[in-house]
Amino acid sequence: ESIPVITIDGPSGAGKGTIARLLAEQLGWHLLDSGAIYRVLAVAIHHHQLSLDDEEPLVPVAAHLDVQFEISSQGEAKVILEGEDVTDIIRTEEIGELASKVAAFPRVREALLRRQRAFRVSPGLIADGRDMGTVVFTNAQVKVFLTASAEERAQRRFNQLKEKGIDVNIGRLLNDIRQRDERDQNRKVAPLVPAEGALIIDSTDISIEEVVNEILIFANGKL
Ligand code: C5P
Repeated sequence: ESIPVITIDGPSGAGKGTIARLLAEQLGWHLLDSGAIYRVLAVAIHHHQLSLDDEEPLVPVAAHLDVQFEISSQGEAKVILEGEDVTDIIRTEEIGELASKVAAFPRVREALLRRQRAFRVSPGLIADGRDMGTVVFTNAQVKVFLTASAEERAQRRFNQLKEKGIDVNIGRLLNDIRQRDERDQNRKVAPLVPAEGALIIDSTDISIEEVVNEILIFANGKL
């Protein structure tokens, strides 16, 4: 397959979403926010009141997930689950937590593979997540691993929530981030590790623009 893909993997809060969106805008490419799929699945599982003790019943929910990514008339990205707007719900800490638990099940991940690969359409795709370069798009032309210190990621998340008028404890955020890292890095399937040949960028002390530029320079000639 020669349709170009840039994969951006890394821990939560490293800025993958922002960077992926900017790259997709600049290049005029499609965007896959794979974390959103796991988050929507978490909402669906919650709706169906399924327990996370058993993988078996979760697999068909993943396989038949009725999710739509839309752009509203105001130009906002909307996420629709079974006709219901779940754009805001999927961004809560609770759903993030649930998503990371759901994401540890191998057959659930397997059931989402085809759906994710279907995003690879012309003229190109920017895919962000945890295993975009290591599992989903192993033959991607350009792979990036984006990280930042846990403290910096907690601070960014704190600022985001504060902007929305949501008051949270930064110590608790840091704790949640560390727990999520731990789960994502140590799970048996598709653990969070840099893909072979990936450009590793630590964004702790550099700006969004610098990250985008580094990626474009790295990608130059590979696409
Ligand atoms: O990136 P985001 O925080 O939205 O992802 C939510 C959770 O979904 C992550 O903590 C991770 O466990 C899981 N995930 C994954 N593989 C991906 C994207 C997300 O396991 N490609």
